[in-house]
Amino acid sequence: MEYTQYGKTGLRVSRFGLGCMRFPPNEADAIEMVRYAIDHGVNYIDTAYVYKDSEVITGKALKNGYRDRTYLATKSPIWNITRHEDFEKYLDEELIRLKTDHIDVYLLHNLNCDNWEKVKKYDGLTFLDKMVQKGKIGHKAFSVHNTFPAFQEIVDSFDWEMAQIQLNILDEHQQVGVEGVRYASEKGLATVIMEPLRGGFLLGSVPEEVYGIIDAYPEKRSFVEWCFRWLYNMPEVTVVLSGTSTLEQLKDNLRIFEHSAADVMSKEDIRLIQKIREAFDSKKSVGCTGCRYCMPCPKGVDIPEIFKLYNSYQLMKTHWVDKEVYQSILVPSGVGADQCVSCGVCMQHCPQDLKIPELLIKVHGELKE
Ligand code: SF4
Ligand code: SF4
Repeated sequence: MEYTQYGKTGLRVSRFGLGCMRFPPNEADAIEMVRYAIDHGVNYIDTAYVYKDSEVITGKALKNGYRDRTYLATKSPIWNITRHEDFEKYLDEELIRLKTDHIDVYLLHNLNCDNWEKVKKYDGLTFLDKMVQKGKIGHKAFSVHNTFPAFQEIVDSFDWEMAQIQLNILDEHQQVGVEGVRYASEKGLATVIMEPLRGGFLLGSVPEEVYGIIDAYPEKRSFVEWCFRWLYNMPEVTVVLSGTSTLEQLKDNLRIFEHSAADVMSKEDIRLIQKIREAFDSKKSVGCTGCRYCMPCPKGVDIPEIFKLYNSYQLMKTHWVDKEVYQSILVPSGVGADQCVSCGVCMQHCPQDLKIPELLIKVHGELKE
């Protein structure tokens, strides 16, 4: 296992972190999995109040000395907060669930537009400072599904020590993206990557050509391995989380991360990742190339961003994040398809001859469901 500095905190963490969102259904199997990970060098465990019974099971798994061998991260359920005092009330409940007297890294969970407003309204940032002083938490952090400008505002608003960001080979410039990882890292924050395989949905939607591309490449690695390698290759990435559901998956992840130093990919490797992306792109439902010639829309509709989200959603239909981003970020920000008045100005500039207003109505209907 490779280890690295956790931002400016002084902690030294494994580059692979165990995500506890998708435990196996059997509690004993889940406990065995957590302990197996720790016994094989993983020292970073990530859970959350809202991950069903994950905190309770994690607390049981960390008994018998395992807690002392890990840095434990968990998250505040911002959705449930209705007054300032609620922050500490939920934290205290989490400490009981996790059978510990402190959380090493405490996150404000999913700072989308609504949740970030709530944090400001109920002074969640002062709460974090107070909990550090009381010794209930070690380090202050947040997770996020949001745009890059909104992310910058959050990063610049407080003395954060870590940002947890969705990133994978297909989301290079989606949501916070690589730009966000670099921005946070430059500011001295640790960066923890979530959804490296889009909760596994990436694996269920791999076009056949991708396997052909990988098979033809001289360096033999699996698709999963290339996905992780692209992430840990970035020096700005601190920890990559993987929420394994079986011991076999965990063992495979541990093998992949055994040598997970940054800056190991060659130019040819990067070109391979680009080819993989192009194979995914060829399956797009809407043939938008993201050229942005249609912009700006006089009504503020972010046409390419909406089509990018829709294509991602179509590829992995069961995955909730694209809908969540559309409903909780794009629409409230006034750049959703609902703003379109079908003036047709954008169509005059689209080199792909897309019937943009018609497509926007269809896309809005599906993403709003
Ligand atoms: S048709 Fe809709 S999206 Fe296109 S320019 Fe007009 S308002 Fe904007
Ligand atoms: S001009 Fe057409 S292809 Fe280009 S971003 Fe707009 S909708 Fe997409």
